[in-house]
Amino acid sequence: MSLELLFVALVGLAIGSFLNVCIHRMPRGESIVHPPSKCPGCGASIRAWDNVPVLSYLILGGKCRSCKSPISMRYPLVEALNAVLWVLVYLRFGTGWHLPVLLAFVSSLVVITFVDLDFQIIPDRIVLPWIVIGLVAGATVLPDPFLRAEPLGWANSLIGAGAGFVLFLVIVIASRGGMGMGDVKMMGMVGAVLGWKGVLLTTFAGSVTGALAGGLLILFRGGGRKTKVPFGPFLALASLISLLLGQELLRWYMHGRL
Ligand SMILES: [Zn+2]
Repeated sequence: MSLELLFVALVGLAIGSFLNVCIHRMPRGESIVHPPSKCPGCGASIRAWDNVPVLSYLILGGKCRSCKSPISMRYPLVEALNAVLWVLVYLRFGTGWHLPVLLAFVSSLVVITFVDLDFQIIPDRIVLPWIVIGLVAGATVLPDPFLRAEPLGWANSLIGAGAGFVLFLVIVIASRGGMGMGDVKMMGMVGAVLGWKGVLLTTFAGSVTGALAGGLLILFRGGGRKTKVPFGPFLALASLISLLLGQELLRWYMHGRL
């Protein structure tokens, strides 16, 4: 059990390092497998022992070994975040064929979050394949995040994908530019993996967290109502809440206790 947990955490860190590459290269249309990582400051190739997740950052003091230019704190943070999410998914859902799918799902949400923060886009290269993967996995291996030990099932997955897509299409048309088609497709992905209850909770939790963050941003930065806040990160956060706490929140809503 604890060895398994350690393994999940370590692989989570390593994949987190790969997610940094995806976050940097995907929105620029670059290959995510080639060439190997270079320092953006001096162009020196980053050697394997300087590329150990989190540890290398700490040993190097957050600076490039060759040119000493600072390395963003975000790299080790993304690695640590991915490892934490992987451990939470493992603890919640245990091992089985659903595990690699759910781990890949939460990692994809991490990439979507940071790409959307940087570029205000949600990459089709992630979301479109995921609608298909979600529907196939939903029909076969995925658990229902809202019911203990029940499979999600193809109908719930299909209705979820359709509901997420249509609901957000209506919101995008109604909001006239507040959100984009990226959010619409992302909710198709989320619905396929989490089912229709997941769409409802994600929409609700995403709106609440998004409104809170938008309010805080206006309070502390000024900017007024025109300040553009990408919505993808909030949908990602809300999807994680639905996946990891869906059962508890549903019980609380239905019976008034956790
Ligand atoms: Zn350098």
